[in-house]
Amino acid sequence: MALRCWRWWHWSAWPRSRPPPSGSTPSRSRTPLGFCQQFSTQEQTPQICVVGSGPAGFYTAQHLLKHHPRACVDIFEKQLVPFGLVRFGVAPDHPEVKNVINTFTQTARSDRCAFHGNVVVGTDVTVPELREAYHAVVLSYGAEDNQALEIPGEELPGVFSARAFVGWYNGLPENRELAPDLSCDTAVILGQGNVALDVARILLTPPEHLEKTDITEAALGVLRQSQVKTVWIVGRRGPLQVAFTIKELREMIQLPGTRPILDPADFLGLQDRIKEVPRPRKRLTELLLRTATEKPGVEEAARQASASRAWGLRFFRSPKQVLPSADGRQVAGVRLAVTRLEGVGEATRAVPTGDVEDLPCGLVLSSIGYKSRPIDPSVPFDPKLGIIPNVDGRVMNVPGLYCSGWVKRGPTGVITTTMTDSFLTSQILLQDLKAGQLPSGPRPGYAAIKALLSSRGLGPMGLACLFLGLGEAGC
Ligand SMILES: Cc1cc2nc3c(=O)[nH]c(=O)nc-3n(C[C@H](O)[C@H](O)[C@H](O)COP(=O)(O)OP(=O)(O)OC[C@H]3O[C@@H](n4cnc5c(N)ncnc54)[C@H](O)[C@@H]3O)c2cc1C
Repeated sequence: MALRCWRWWHWSAWPRSRPPPSGSTPSRSRTPLGFCQQFSTQEQTPQICVVGSGPAGFYTAQHLLKHHPRACVDIFEKQLVPFGLVRFGVAPDHPEVKNVINTFTQTARSDRCAFHGNVVVGTDVTVPELREAYHAVVLSYGAEDNQALEIPGEELPGVFSARAFVGWYNGLPENRELAPDLSCDTAVILGQGNVALDVARILLTPPEHLEKTDITEAALGVLRQSQVKTVWIVGRRGPLQVAFTIKELREMIQLPGTRPILDPADFLGLQDRIKEVPRPRKRLTELLLRTATEKPGVEEAARQASASRAWGLRFFRSPKQVLPSADGRQVAGVRLAVTRLEGVGEATRAVPTGDVEDLPCGLVLSSIGYKSRPIDPSVPFDPKLGIIPNVDGRVMNVPGLYCSGWVKRGPTGVITTTMTDSFLTSQILLQDLKAGQLPSGPRPGYAAIKALLSSRGLGPMGLACLFLGLGEAGC
C-alpha cells in the first residue's frame, strides 16, 4: 500500500487560510498585532503578490518576509494545492528532495503570508488587476509547456510528454486520466536529462519498492501490470553532452533487477577527452565509461545476468518520425536520424549524417525540454526563449512587475538554482521599494482581489477550507 500521508499531512498542518471576514478593512486582519493599523503613506506596509507556489514563489516570499519586517505576501496558485513541481514533478522515490516543503510550510505559517489556491492568474484575475491591488507583483509561474517533437506521428496514441507521465504518477489532476498503455515490451525516452532518467527509473523499478513512496495508487496499479522490459534513453549528442547528473546515473546503474546496455563504440577516444572537461562532467563521464567498457566483478556480473529488465543509452540519434502500427492506431517505433557532432565545447551541434535507424517500441516519452507560456497579454513575453524578458528579475518596461524561477531564466536548474535566483529577484524588489520606485500610498491587497473573484462567481481556496472539504464561502 503506497504511503501518501505527507500530501495530506501538509495540507492539514497548514496553519491558516481563513480569509479576512467580508467587510473588514482592506488591510490585513490576520496578524495578532494588527500591523496594518499602523498603515500610513510614510510607513507603508508593502502589499506584494506572488503568482505561483512552486519553489520560486515560496523562496521569493521567504526572502521578502525575512528582509522586510512589514511586507505582506499573498501567493496565488492555480492548483488547489501548493508547491508546484516539488509536489507534481520530483520523483516519488526521491522523498529527501521534497523536504524543502518543510521550509515552504514555515514561510506559509507567517502571519504576513497567505496562500490562495484555485486562482488562475490571467484567467480568473488579470495581471493589471493584481498590479492595481498590490505594490508589487512577482510572476513565478514556472514553465508548464513541453517542447513539441515537431515530427510526423507525434500525435499517435502511445506518445506522451515525459512531463505528463510524471504528472500522472505524481497525481497532477490534469494528468490523472493519462492511462499509459504499458503492455509493450520496449519504451523509448527521447532526451537525456534527469527527467528522462526519473521516468526510466519509475518504469523499471520493481513495483514493491514504489509501494513505500507517495506515488499514486492508480499509477502503482498500472506499473504492477507493466510488461515494459527495456527502456532506451535516446540523445542527439554523445556521452560528453548528456544532461543528467551523476546521482541519477548511479541510481540507474544500481537499480535492482535491471542491467545497463551501453555500446563501448560510443565511448571510443573519450578517455583522452575527459581530461579537458570540468570536474563534475569528468566524474560523470568516467562513471559512464567504466559502466560501458569495464568487465563487471563477479557479484555485479551475477546481478546483471539475473536481471529481467534493461535500460540503455543510445547516443547520436535524433527523432525523425514516430512510426505507426500496421493498423495505424498505435505507436510501433521511432525512426531515428543518425547524427554526428560539429563544433566544439558548448557550441557542439548534432547534425544528421543521412542514415536512419528504426527502433521498435510501444511507448514514446518525449523529454526534450519545456517552455513557459504567456498568461496575460499585458506582460511582455519572449516566445523564442520562452521566458518573460527581464533584467535581474525586473520585467522589462513594467515598473512594479517582477519574475523569478523558471519563467525568469528558463526551464533549467534544480531547486537550489531556483532558490538563488528567487532571492535575487526579491533583493531587487526590496531595493526598488527602498528607492521609492514602487507605487506610493496604501494598496488594498487581497481584499480587492477577493471582491473581484467573488463578483465573478469564483472563490479561491485556502488550505484549511480544503481540509474540511469546503470552498471559501463555506469556511
Ligand atoms: C519532472 C521534474 C522533476 C524534477 N526533479 C527535481 C529534483 O529531483 N530535484 C531538484 O532539485 N529539482 C528538480 N526539478 C527542477 C525543479 O522542479 C525546478 O527547479 C523548480 O520547480 C522550478 O520552480 P518554479 O517555481 O519556477 O516552477 P514550478 O515548480 O513549476 O512552480 C510554478 C507554479 O506556478 C503555478 N502556476 C502556473 N501558472 C499559473 C497561473 N496562471 N496562475 C497561478 N499559478 C500558476 C503552477 O501550478 C506551479 O505551482 C524537477 C523538474 C521536473 C520538471
